[in-house]
Amino acid sequence: MLQGRELTIFRRKLLNWFQRYRRELPWRASHDAYRVWLSEIMLQQTRVAAVIPYYERFLARFPTVEELASASEEEVLRMWSGLGYYSRARNLQRAAQEIVGKFSGTFPRNEADVRHLPGIGAYTAAAILSIAHGEKLAALDGNVARVLSRLFAITGDLRETARWKELQRRADSLLDTKSPGDWNQAMMEVGATVCTPRAPQCLLCPVAQYCEGRKQGIAERLPQVRKKREVVEVVLASAVLLDAQGRTLLLAPSKRSHEREKHDDIAALVSEMWHFPTVAARAQPKEALREHLSAFLKSKAASNGNLKFQPLRPARHTVTYRALTLRPYRICVSRLPRVSGATIVPLAEVAAHSSLAISNLTRKVARSAMAAAAATH
Ligand code: SF4
Repeated sequence: MLQGRELTIFRRKLLNWFQRYRRELPWRASHDAYRVWLSEIMLQQTRVAAVIPYYERFLARFPTVEELASASEEEVLRMWSGLGYYSRARNLQRAAQEIVGKFSGTFPRNEADVRHLPGIGAYTAAAILSIAHGEKLAALDGNVARVLSRLFAITGDLRETARWKELQRRADSLLDTKSPGDWNQAMMEVGATVCTPRAPQCLLCPVAQYCEGRKQGIAERLPQVRKKREVVEVVLASAVLLDAQGRTLLLAPSKRSHEREKHDDIAALVSEMWHFPTVAARAQPKEALREHLSAFLKSKAASNGNLKFQPLRPARHTVTYRALTLRPYRICVSRLPRVSGATIVPLAEVAAHSSLAISNLTRKVARSAMAAAAATH
């Protein structure tokens, strides 16, 4: 454990480096809690470059927590459309409503209150409170954990409870309590730009002289690979119903309760935004889809097998440990059914920029259906 004068110099070196080399990112222009919070949520499992345009558009549309709280969920999802992990957007809005309802629109300063807000865990709470309010909390996420594991040559699975606690103790002991916000950002920045997962650039590292992993020649092998959760293959089949006017049917986003979110709801991978009728179908996707459709098409054509299913290019998508294969079919119908909670829209609009909240996956399927239609004409 670094201490005394050595610790003081370590902190100074890292903070000076951060002041000099930090990337200018839009959310760093202000210490406003709403902006910091929004950026932290968007950055979860998403690259900085992908987040920047979303962050700017979202903030332009919802400049205050009140405006986010009072917007329709549909509008919030639409602004999040394409960024993925849509439960983040729903939780963000639920939290905004709590902030307005319970805290008069001011982001709480108390850690326990912040941790109670939907979608905010220990790391996010520490990051927001330290950056926006100067609270003395060390933020520990996978990025910072990697840096610490190398600095202190910590081996083993970092996500094991005892080891994670040890990392939190190390992070707490390093924290510069005079500028905790800058400190946390400096730790994250060194992890994002210098102490990167594959090839740490130790020659550029401001704290290389203190790095035990480097001294022992094991930095590149840290952190040790954790036991990966087995990948679950998920196959879904989707119906792109198409009428003679080039219109299709989309189903409304399904409401997800907190309880359902805790469980692995496979259909929710697709149904949390506007989506084509979709069914889980491991063995015989076409048959499973035909059966599913007959339930709400209620047309003889659907049940007696007269509908033609033109297979489209499968779309693949990975969400944490689930590898999803979506098998879409283009199905021409004389008339689209009226289904409650559904909407009828031009397919071209789904493929381009729709005014509806649509995931990239659905957009991709719409595009291949458009390409297939063009090829048959
Ligand atoms: Fe990471 Fe290398 Fe710096 Fe150690 S010296 S913290 S391994 S970049």
